[in-house]
Amino acid sequence: MILIAGAGIGGLTLGRALARARLPFRIYERASDLRPAGAGIALSANAFTALAHVGLEEPARACGRELGVAAICHPAGHALISVRVRDIVAGGTVAMARSDLQRVLLESIEGSVQTGRAVARYENVPGGVRVHLADGGAIDADLLVAADGLHSAVRRQMRGAETLRYSGQTSWRALVDGIDLAEPDRLTETWGAGRRFGIVPIGARRVYWFAVRDSPAGGRDGDDACVALRALFAGWHAPIEDMIAATPADQIVRTDIFDRPPIDRWVEGRVALLGDAAHPMTPDAGMGGCQAIEDAVVLADALAREATVDGALIRYQARRVARANGFVVRSHRIGQIAHLRTAPLRWLRNTALRAVPVRLAARALARDLGFRL
Ligand SMILES: Cc1cc2nc3c(=O)[nH]c(=O)nc-3n(C[C@H](O)[C@H](O)[C@H](O)COP(=O)(O)OP(=O)(O)OC[C@H]3O[C@@H](n4cnc5c(N)ncnc54)[C@H](O)[C@@H]3O)c2cc1C
Repeated sequence: MILIAGAGIGGLTLGRALARARLPFRIYERASDLRPAGAGIALSANAFTALAHVGLEEPARACGRELGVAAICHPAGHALISVRVRDIVAGGTVAMARSDLQRVLLESIEGSVQTGRAVARYENVPGGVRVHLADGGAIDADLLVAADGLHSAVRRQMRGAETLRYSGQTSWRALVDGIDLAEPDRLTETWGAGRRFGIVPIGARRVYWFAVRDSPAGGRDGDDACVALRALFAGWHAPIEDMIAATPADQIVRTDIFDRPPIDRWVEGRVALLGDAAHPMTPDAGMGGCQAIEDAVVLADALAREATVDGALIRYQARRVARANGFVVRSHRIGQIAHLRTAPLRWLRNTALRAVPVRLAARALARDLGFRL
């Protein structure tokens, strides 16, 4: 039996992939009920290729809107670079409400998640692992997969105390209805000094937006986050101010952005890290969830293919570490470049972005957005 700690994107996808491979599993989730954290999410073509292996591409795509174009813009509104994603990889990116993605994943493994059960620690025992729960119970399993996120308790035991790396940036996210966009299939990020704004259409007149600014960790909003955000983005291109104004303040989620420097060992005995527990990354490349999905599909395939669990874990780690860690590094870098504060550096960056041959951007994207089992 395979025990999965955590029913986030990674844990649920792994459950689905194991169910398809007819491998017995259970998911233990700390939260007493499953609520999606955050407003929206964009999944790229690589995530859908992985989801196709477990029969979930169609239902996941149906949750959201396909975005054919991705652009980085100047606060005045003109594009610094614009890429037709659909011309590079079939399918493009699809953005959706997180609650819809969670529903699709949960429905695909109905009844397999036990909520209110936190994994506290583990012991590697001969031929398996003993998993201790916070409520005092203990379960023997062939494998423990830690899909317990950024603050993973399993990782803490495996690697000892590690500090999170704060990006220097905090984010706000929300869904808002009733917004008409000039280009309803275009994802836009607008970069200014120490701040940026993202517009991600997810359905008819429905938009997922995010705002990011340089700020010390642990900051709090006053009573109305909208007031401060409208001031922060005053004078930026339409419809940014209108969109913030149309969002109820209590719908806005604020999150400080952390990651961890990459590590090369995700496996210890019969315990494996997956998703944010293994490779938490900043959201700048929009890849954290996509990589958790890739991890899950590769791990289930390795378990089905290899004669032993140990052999499968070797295969899993060998297949996944370099790719996921590459995104950790690139994502962190993108976040820093997006927020350059010095005007001459911003000018240089914008000039360079305008000069990037579309062919080069397409080649880099094709590498990132490709996934093969
Ligand atoms: C602002 C922001 C925007 C993002 N946008 C995107 C995007 O557009 N596209 C994208 O691909 N990614 C995006 N990401 C990243 C993505 O959200 C994460 O990478 C993804 O959620 C990781 O999934 P996971 O299953 O590994 O962890 P999580 O989703 O964090 O799930 C972990 C689960 O484990 C549970 N848990 C924790 N501890 C325990 C325990 N001890 N025992 C049992 N259960 C436990 C938690 O309650 C939770 O349900 C974004 C992240 C942020 C912060």
